[in-house]
Amino acid sequence: MSKIVSVKAKVYKWTGPVQKIHENFCTNAADIVNQENISNDRWTTYKFHSWLVVEIETSDGLVGLGNAALSPEPCKSVVDTYLAPAIIGESIWDYEHIWQKMYRQTLAWGRKGVGMTAISAVDIAIWDALGKSAKQPVFKLLGGKTKSKLPCYASKLYSQPLDSLAKEAKDYVDQGFKAMKLRLGWGPTDGAEGMHKNIELIKTVRSVVGDNVDLMADVYMGWTFEYAKRMMRLIDNENLRWLEEPVIADDIDGYADLKASCRTPISGGEHEYTLFGFRQLLEKKAIDVVQFDTNRVGGITQAHKISALAEAFQIPVIPHAGQVHNFHISMSSVNAPIVEYFPFWPVEIGNELFWYIFDGEPQAKNGFIELEENKHGLGIKLSNKYLDKFEIIE
Ligand SMILES: [Mg+2]
Repeated sequence: MSKIVSVKAKVYKWTGPVQKIHENFCTNAADIVNQENISNDRWTTYKFHSWLVVEIETSDGLVGLGNAALSPEPCKSVVDTYLAPAIIGESIWDYEHIWQKMYRQTLAWGRKGVGMTAISAVDIAIWDALGKSAKQPVFKLLGGKTKSKLPCYASKLYSQPLDSLAKEAKDYVDQGFKAMKLRLGWGPTDGAEGMHKNIELIKTVRSVVGDNVDLMADVYMGWTFEYAKRMMRLIDNENLRWLEEPVIADDIDGYADLKASCRTPISGGEHEYTLFGFRQLLEKKAIDVVQFDTNRVGGITQAHKISALAEAFQIPVIPHAGQVHNFHISMSSVNAPIVEYFPFWPVEIGNELFWYIFDGEPQAKNGFIELEENKHGLGIKLSNKYLDKFEIIE
């Protein structure tokens, strides 16, 4: 029963209108190689406008739906070439065996990045099918509810002119959010003036939301370690709940140094992979908050294990990106105090595309996400609403 009979990977490529973004809307690791007078594509490196969708069909007629946002075209190729042939004929209930097969058969090149993202999308589809097979929401298979609803934080507030930043922050307060995250727009190539501008962004949002709202800031790996050390002297006065991804994901010692030397908690992990990657981050005391993304880290099979590991270290798990697969993980863990929430938005950098591809993604109400008990699996399906705005590569 429930043997896998087909694995389809599709790329949903957005062809509709794209909203323009501010030049310094968020730092990123490519800033220092895209400096002014050398090349001017500083912010275009950040955007992505397509998404990977994986559908797994079983012998008893179930269809499990998984997805991933990172590098969808190469991920599709990995699924088609390596993963699908390896798992057709397996029972979805042998999900650990399937995961190990995908991991070990691609180990020479697949451990991190594209390979693990493709594995994640397939694994999520398997868990969706498991829930449908058991006629239960996925969180019930992971331990059930640990809270009645999930507190969530509004995650957007990209760097922009201060008046419109203030307006966006006010909108989230009015919608009932008790926590929100902004993006810092300046880094090592912007000198002391940029440092001051980063602090101005934080102070602007704080002046709108007051002291009873948690505020976080994200750098998306856009700083060097040396710049981060200087910047943290200023940030430590701003009472942030955390500062996210100050340096590149590979600089684990840099994270550990910042965590040890700054008052502001340091978060990271959205660009780290598997139980082994997080073991290293946790053992090295590199982060105060674990932020894996289920659709990169190895799917629900890995996310569940990493959650348990982080619990043993008493480091909270607050997954990257919202999306329902992350919510099911957070619902089933006491070590997950809050979740990230990407608001519905006109298509801009790509983070928001999942709203256009799927029906049933939970919407925040008054700063909380609720998961329905009577929706089996992950509770989402493919939407027809915006199909004319996508090119679908099968
Ligand atoms: Mg982030």
